Amino acid sequence: MTLVDGNALAGALTELLGPDPTVTVLRCAGCGSLGPVALAAVYRTAMGSVARCRDCDTVLVTVVDAGEQRWVALPGTRAVLEPVPE
Ligand SMILES: [Zn+2]
Repeated sequence: MTLVDGNALAGALTELLGPDPTVTVLRCAGCGSLGPVALAAVYRTAMGSVARCRDCDTVLVTVVDAGEQRWVALPGTRAVLEPVPE
């Protein structure tokens, strides 16, 4: 297992959250803290990645690569902050 930061999830989350998902702000369901995806603690394995809150270790995002399919979940994310277009 390799520990990297949330920038490692950029490719997997681009289609889900927009052209630069690493700046997307998530609210942690465990402790309520707010932070961009880029600052999450991401643990990588051969099967995929798990992003954890740096404040309380709650699992914010999981990315599992299963053959030609990719499963993305936000199990510990209470909300995703969506910027209001100007
Ligand atoms: Zn937290």
